Parts: sequence; structure tokens; C-alpha cells
Amino acid sequence: MPKQSDVLAADFLVKIAEEFGTPVYIYHAEKIKTQYEKLQKAFHKADTRFFYACKALTNINILKYVNSIGCGLDTVSIQEVQLGLKAGFDPKNIIFTPNCVDLQEIIAAKDLGVIINIDNLSILEQFGNKFGGSYPISIRLNPHIMAGGNFKISTGHIDSKFGISIHQMRHIERIINSTKLKVTGLHMHTGSEIKDVDVFLRGVEVMLEMVQHFPDLESIDLGSGFKVAYQQGDPETDIDLLGRKLSEAFNTFAKTYVRPLQLWFEPGKFLVSQCGYFVVKANVIKQTTANVFVGVNSGFNHLIRPMFYDAFHLIRNISNPKGTERIYTVVGNICETDTFGWDRKINEVREGDYLVFYNAGAYGFEMSSNFNSRLKPAEVLVKEGKPHLIRRRDTLEDLLKNQIELQ
Ligand SMILES: *Cc1c(COP(=O)(O)O)cnc(C)c1O
Repeated sequence: MPKQSDVLAADFLVKIAEEFGTPVYIYHAEKIKTQYEKLQKAFHKADTRFFYACKALTNINILKYVNSIGCGLDTVSIQEVQLGLKAGFDPKNIIFTPNCVDLQEIIAAKDLGVIINIDNLSILEQFGNKFGGSYPISIRLNPHIMAGGNFKISTGHIDSKFGISIHQMRHIERIINSTKLKVTGLHMHTGSEIKDVDVFLRGVEVMLEMVQHFPDLESIDLGSGFKVAYQQGDPETDIDLLGRKLSEAFNTFAKTYVRPLQLWFEPGKFLVSQCGYFVVKANVIKQTTANVFVGVNSGFNHLIRPMFYDAFHLIRNISNPKGTERIYTVVGNICETDTFGWDRKINEVREGDYLVFYNAGAYGFEMSSNFNSRLKPAEVLVKEGKPHLIRRRDTLEDLLKNQIELQ
């Protein structure tokens, strides 16, 4: 868990829940800055830039805050690009790294002037034929086989749909040579939650082998995958060690290239996971023959990570922090099995108590839905100690907004 000073206090969360209602997502702006500064400090020895992977959390106020602290933006859809521009990002600070989108979407991004990562040969060729001499691009590589051995990680492995295989280098070169495409960046994103520093180091090794094929490079983008702790004792990417080792390896290599190279990263979770708190209310305490369930006023329609990824979120009772610890299974209120956590030790829960899920900033609200025709939660941003409503709770009108009632 983060340092105490980094964490919003339980009684403050209760006050916010009382003022804005539950379920509610609460974000702590300054925590995002703390995380950004940790990255900057860890990588200060190399010329490094960070782009916030905003699919983790796209509320416009979060985007504006991220822009205000000097961080760039990584986007995966044209809508995220448009949101980024609306939030005030300079297009030069926005990377567009889509997967399996059509050429029209890539051209729309080009017209907006953002940095484009192309991740398949078909689009590379079509884009090259149209804009070869005029619009430099980056290429997303899939590094699956490493020098000296193989390894598999979630998006960099041989069966992954992401990136252009490094074994297709000859084909990439063919396209570049015949279309005069200028490749200014190489990109790889091997997956989320990598705690092993060596995985990043092996990734950088492969990338550095690839650069000889590209004479116009300005940056190497290693994506993300920095892991954060979701509970006490959870392994976490050792960011200082990673920064030191990777900067060293990168600098040694970069010296051999024809021009200075920048090292880029696209952290999502690392920047916003711990800034977020999801507060719900205990509706029902239900004793069965096998279990004591706490049924809360939420479900996987609001926070799907526990069910979708088997993710662990620490749950605390903020209304009764001194109560006797009991064992509970925390479930949601939708008609589907939606268990947030089995056999959790939580201070005694009474009906009406507020519970908090920690580390709810990344892929929380962003993956929410209206399943069961339930309303999406409100979002609150705490900035300089004050809570601000940044998204009102859905209403019934929101559910009907785009529906067309036939007469
Ligand atoms: C999702 C994603 C990220 C961010 O991953 P995290 O695990 O949230 O840090 C970065 N780059 C790309 C291309 C992504 O798709």
C-alpha cells in the first residue's frame, strides 16, 4: 500500500460519500503527480518522456490535470485522441496506438497531427502509399522471440494480435523502401503488470537490435506494464531499480546510434490506479449456511476487474474502522454472480456502512456499464484537499437518451 500521506483518510471518504451519494468513484489528483514524479526521478539519467495511457481513466478533468503536470498522452481510439485535444494536449504530445482499426481512423488521426503507431503490415503499406514522403510514423513491433531465448508475456507473445512480428522485418523494409515512409519511432507494449525488471531489459535488448533497420529513429517506446501493489506485500515493479538499469542499458546503446534517441513509456495503471477509491454502501448482510455475504449497492457493472481479471482490490469498512474484524464475502447487487472478494477480513459491517475499494483509479469507471439498467456511478476529484463533482450520476433519462421509441 502507498504511504499514509498519499492516501485519502477514511473519514474524508465517508464525508464525500455522504455529500455525493454512493456508489462513487473518488480520485486524488496530487497522487497522480506523485506517481509521475516517481517515474521522472527513476529515469532521470536517460532522456525519457512519459505518455499517460488514458484508456485507464478518461474523465476530461483527469486528462486536463495530466496535461498540466507536463505528461504526454497515449491513446488507442480516435475518440481518445479527440478527448485529449479537447483537454488541451498539443497533438505533438499525443501518441495514437490503435489495434485493428481501419485506414480511415488512422487518416483521421493524421489529420489531427498526432504521433501514429502502426501495428500491421496492411495499414503500413496503405498509409505508406498515400502519405509515404509526408507524414512520419512509428511502428509497433511484436518482440516475441528474444535474443538467446524465448519468453511469453501477455501481449508480446507469438499468438498475440498486437504489433508487427520482428520476423517480418524484411517485409517492413520492403514497404518502407518502396513508399519512402519515414519511421521515427519503434514501439512495443508487452503487457500489463510486469514486475520483473529483466523482462523490460530483455525487451530493450530486442528493440535495440531492431534499430539498425531504421535510419530515421528519434524515439524508442517501451509501452508500459509497470505493476503497482494492490495489497500489502504485493510484488511491485521496482521503479528505481528499473529506471537505473534501463537508463544505463539505453544510454550505452543510444551512443552507437546516428543521433540522440529518446526513451518513451506509456504508463496507465502506474499513474492512476492508486489515486482512485470506489465507495459503495452495504445494502444487506446475508448469513447463509456457508457464508456471511455483504451485498453492496454495486456490481461488475461498476467495477469489473475482480470478475474479469480475478483482480484483487483491498476492501475496508470506512464507517466502522475500529469494529471487530469478521470474515465476509463481498458481492454485488446485479443478477449475475458478481463476487468482489471471498473471505475478506473486514471490520464488522452493518447494513448502511460505507465500504471502499482501493486502487480503483485504473480500469474502474472506465470499464463500467449499464448492465441491469443500473446507473453508472458519479465521479469526484479531490484537488488541493477539496472534492469536486466531475461526473454526475446517471439518471433514467441517460438510459433512454439514445433509444428511439417506435410509435
Ligand atoms: C493499455 C496500454 C498501456 C497501459 O498499460 P498499463 O498496464 O495500464 O500501464 C500502454 N500502452 C498501450 C499501447 C496500451 O494498450
